[in-house]
Amino acid sequence: MSIRIDENKCVGCFQCISVCPGSLIKERDGKAFVKYPRDCWGCVSCVKECRAAAIEFYLGADIGGNGGTMNVSYEGDILHWNITKNDGTVMVIDVNSKNSNKY
Ligand code: SF4
Ligand code: SF4
Repeated sequence: MSIRIDENKCVGCFQCISVCPGSLIKERDGKAFVKYPRDCWGCVSCVKECRAAAIEFYLGADIGGNGGTMNVSYEGDILHWNITKNDGTVMVIDVNSKNSNKY
């Protein structure tokens, strides 16, 4: 599993660095980059924290994603989990962050 950070979208807030439990993301020239991509275990904490939608998570075949990607965009309290499938189609799952701790 791995992520990709789009330097053009990254605004250098470094929230991703502070939440990565493996310290896999580092800072370079005011932008975040993944220094140890092979060590990423796909917790998606960094993806969720990035308010600039700069981080994409690869949906590998091992989790049924077959090469698609996923990122998050915010609209108030709503998180849009944007899933782009390998055929280019997009699926969006909306989650209200205020309900994130409800079961
Ligand atoms: S959270 Fe997003 S915008 Fe902030 S440093 Fe990381 S990649 Fe860049
Ligand atoms: S998905 Fe999790 S383990 Fe991988 S880089 Fe992001 S925060 Fe770190």
